[in-house]
Amino acid sequence: MVRLCFRAVHTYKINSGKAKPVQRISGIKRFIHLNYTKMGSSRHYAMEYEDFHSNINESSTDVNLDTGELKESFKEILRTRIEKLLTNLEEEENHWMKYDDYSIYTGTAGIAFMFYQYGKCFNKPDYIDRAMKLLKRCVDKYKNKRDITFLTGTVGPLALNAVILYSQGHHEEAHKMISEIKSLSSIVLNENSPILDELLYGRAGYLYALLFLNANISPLPIQDEVIKQVIALMIKSGNMYAATTKYNTSLMYTNNTSYLGAAHGLAGILYILLQARQYLTESQLEKDIKPALKFLQHVRYPSGNFPSIMGSSSDQLVHWCHGAPGMTMLFCLAHKVYQDENFLETAIQCGDVVWSRGLLRKGNGICHGVAGNAYTFLCLFQVTKDLKYLHRASKFAQWCLSPHLERIPDRPHSLFEGLSGTIYFLIDMQHPLSAKFPAYTI
Ligand SMILES: [Zn+2]
Repeated sequence: MVRLCFRAVHTYKINSGKAKPVQRISGIKRFIHLNYTKMGSSRHYAMEYEDFHSNINESSTDVNLDTGELKESFKEILRTRIEKLLTNLEEEENHWMKYDDYSIYTGTAGIAFMFYQYGKCFNKPDYIDRAMKLLKRCVDKYKNKRDITFLTGTVGPLALNAVILYSQGHHEEAHKMISEIKSLSSIVLNENSPILDELLYGRAGYLYALLFLNANISPLPIQDEVIKQVIALMIKSGNMYAATTKYNTSLMYTNNTSYLGAAHGLAGILYILLQARQYLTESQLEKDIKPALKFLQHVRYPSGNFPSIMGSSSDQLVHWCHGAPGMTMLFCLAHKVYQDENFLETAIQCGDVVWSRGLLRKGNGICHGVAGNAYTFLCLFQVTKDLKYLHRASKFAQWCLSPHLERIPDRPHSLFEGLSGTIYFLIDMQHPLSAKFPAYTI
């Protein structure tokens, strides 16, 4: 079943008025806590933290102003919380192993992704082994072997397991998985199939997997030609649809609706394409991608946030999947590729939107939660080295230490909707300069 993130975020069980225990999810139940003393909007809490400024008191920030790094005491608090949340997740294993969902996005493969990150960061080989075992199970159990994306298809557990296996010296097994991924290129490259181009369910999600393999395995397992063919088809598809619209853009895509955000829309597609820039022609960079970036800037709301779909005047969603957070990574990279300060300006405005409206009531997850929104600041910190963004990321991490969850997602333990995503982000906060939004930044 195809689940649109946009639709999913409107179908959560909403506990209006007071905390509501959730049966069968005892670990998660501990995180349900409502605090109606804070004001904000129906979608986000009001910002309660002091922003960074040149005269900020040392005690008001988790950044060591002498070294420009997070204070060791704060990182220790995060580590303690990571252990606690991990224990809670492991206590709930019987629940999340029961789900018939093996994807990175909301299934067991995503939980394995977090275990792998934890094992790498804290040098715990048993968690890396555990990730491999879980991923193998995901690959075996996946019913539809023709789902082609990293986030929602069999390609995700295959690619991730290939990378882990290769890093552990199991090269032959890794190459078997890579061959399976390559064999799916015939589906992806079929121009007559109804396949989408978006990140979550379409060609951009397959392209991400190819780039992920080449970024993590040497010698490069994926030939240039395959990558270039996928790119060419995505651009052709975007050109063709854009030509049928009234929009002044070189690229536009449709999934019945013209989405603009990271998960289903133009921004996600452009971001994956730009991360494949070594495979792009000058013409693709200048005549296809750049005008589409300018178009996106043009349809921004006055607030600096972005519509989730073309024509929407509802400036409400500030999520990675729809809105400013996912755009930040895109425009930071666009600045790097095109050396255009205007793109960085756009990314910085996204950062301000997320700071004021990013403490979401949807919880502390990755796709449409506070942890995902915090990557806005990590990205801006990596690009600008401005301590303001490290400070902001630390405040969002601090928020994630406390229980804030008003809506229970369908997959409360998962990487993109639940607890694993929060833990993944807190792990990334140990090394802010190398943090990467999972399954989006390669
Ligand atoms: Zn989402």
